[in-house]
Amino acid sequence: MEKINGTIINTDVEFKDFKDYNEKIVSIKGYIHRIREMTGFSFVILRTARETVQCVYAPEFSDYRFDERLKEEACVRVTGKVVGSFDKNGKERFELQIHNIEILSLPAEQLPIVINKKQLDNIQLSTVLDLRPVSMRNPKERAIFKIQEGIARGFREFLLKNNFTEIRSPKINYAGAEGGTNVFKLDYFGKQVYLAQSPQLYKQSLVGVFERVFEIAPVFRAEHHDTSRHLNEYTSMDFEMGFINDFTDIMNMETGALKYIMNLLKTEYAEEVELLHADIPEITEIPTIKFMDAKELLMTKYKYKPSDMKDFDPEEEALLGKYAKSEFNSDFIFVTHYPSKKRPFYTMDDPNDPEYTLSFDLLFRGLEITSGGQRVHDYHAQVEKMIKCGMNPEEFETYLMLHKYGAPPHGGLGLGLERLTMHLLGFKNVREATMFPRDINRVSP
Ligand code: ATP
Ligand code: MG
Repeated sequence: MEKINGTIINTDVEFKDFKDYNEKIVSIKGYIHRIREMTGFSFVILRTARETVQCVYAPEFSDYRFDERLKEEACVRVTGKVVGSFDKNGKERFELQIHNIEILSLPAEQLPIVINKKQLDNIQLSTVLDLRPVSMRNPKERAIFKIQEGIARGFREFLLKNNFTEIRSPKINYAGAEGGTNVFKLDYFGKQVYLAQSPQLYKQSLVGVFERVFEIAPVFRAEHHDTSRHLNEYTSMDFEMGFINDFTDIMNMETGALKYIMNLLKTEYAEEVELLHADIPEITEIPTIKFMDAKELLMTKYKYKPSDMKDFDPEEEALLGKYAKSEFNSDFIFVTHYPSKKRPFYTMDDPNDPEYTLSFDLLFRGLEITSGGQRVHDYHAQVEKMIKCGMNPEEFETYLMLHKYGAPPHGGLGLGLERLTMHLLGFKNVREATMFPRDINRVSP
């Protein structure tokens, strides 16, 4: 009987290790990204999992003769000699002189779009999205999602280092967490249930168990409008922490996480950062401004007439981004103390001025990426606030177990992964930073 013992066999070399194999014969596998015939030789660009490798075919390198069946998007194993040379910037580059190409698989048809240019030229976003499984093969498109991986990975690594526990909350819920018009209703064997808009109530409950928790998972919002910043399903990076001194503990934790993420991108994702010309922000300190002071500033300094005194519109957010950059040379700004009327029922009011809350949003280059704050932890205060908000506390029995049986002072936040990716990479539309976006007009692919 054959037995499996977990040994991972890799007889092929990775391109990043070519420097250790200079002048040696190696094998490497991947897709044929591009073939460029020159006089007397050909360039065969191989696309591996993370990079493109220049391979050179010439009859004098070996007895191997180029197989006419080879074409773009064929899956192959190329064997050859690693050859290093220095480019005009003094950087050492490696290529492979081809000794053999083993065909592993051939495509049935030609691709419907050209993906082997540096970027997808003149292709409409809707086409790019329709063809996601193949449009993402383009190195620049693919790099977007490696950067996204880096962001989520940085968030997770930083929080694990800070004693957070990773949780998984259900996405099919009996009660709609935050209510409102943007909750998706679902028929559940004849019963009405809701898709989770956020892990809010569960992550709070779990503060009572683990003290510090986080989750990176999809959430669902029935956004009835078609905007450049809203998806109907997005990835929420949430954390919640207990035993806080005040809500600045949460803002400090987020600032620490963002510093960690940006550093990770610069070190472990340098190639993708370069490919996308991503402008990675330097974070030292993030300025804060109170909501009402921000409104005041917008009216006086920027002569802006606000349409809503309880929230910001996108233009106001952009102006605040400008202000943070010009006054503090910061790409980020925390806006604190939002009006109670605009924040959910679990938000703690400011004891010094209950019209406002101990809450904040984080704006990045003039766009909201996070909402967070301190939560009500006292049982009676929470029940009272729910009633004031027109809710029936009996419907929230499970949630209120936290408060009823003892909750520490706590708070947390939610950070939209696609929105952060979008703005970091300078995109105008959040769909560009979403692998398979779901919006009012799109549920496939
Ligand atoms: P907005 O005011 O932009 O509609 P929101 O205040 O309704 O956002 P929150 O409930 O505060 O959103 O969600 C926390 C974070 O999740 C936001 O700061 C944002 O980064 C992200 N987010 C919220 N809604 C969406 C959405 N529909 N699509 C993508 N990301 C979203
Ligand atoms: Mg918000």
